[in-house]
Formats: sequence, C-alpha cells, structure tokens
Amino acid sequence: MQRELIAQDGRNLYRAVVEENELRHALFADNLGFCTECGMETDGVEPDAHDYHCGSCGMCAVFGLEELLIMGLVRIGEVTE
Ligand SMILES: [Zn+2]
Repeated sequence: MQRELIAQDGRNLYRAVVEENELRHALFADNLGFCTECGMETDGVEPDAHDYHCGSCGMCAVFGLEELLIMGLVRIGEVTE
C-alpha cells in the first residue's frame, strides 16, 4: 500500500493506493487501516473503523480500508516505487 496526497473538499488528505491483487488480502486478512491526515498505514483496524486515533500524527483520522473505499480514499492501481 502506498499513499498519495490529494485535495478533497478544500482539504489535503492522503489517499491509499493499493494494487488490485493486494486489495482483497488487505481487506480480509490484514485489517489494514490508514490515516488520512499523515498517510500512516496501521494494521489491526476493523474494515469499517473510522476516526481512530493515529499513533503517528495524533489526529483521529484512521479509517479501515472498507470505509476508505466508500469515502473514495482508495485508488486501485499500480504502486510505483
Ligand atoms: Zn496520522
């Protein structure tokens, strides 16, 4: 999973970038979450989690991957790097 900074509703947020073959595993096996404020990836987060506290930036902006998909904050595509 990668992150990219996007502008949405006048704010700058991080969006998760996940490869298609990685998405299913990330959703159902890893319980991956992602902080929209700093882009930090966290595991052990339920798919429908929202506004969890981020251990990295301290904001309550960690969401589960399923929730991020609904919010339009996941891009499924090639991860470069
Ligand atoms: Zn954060």
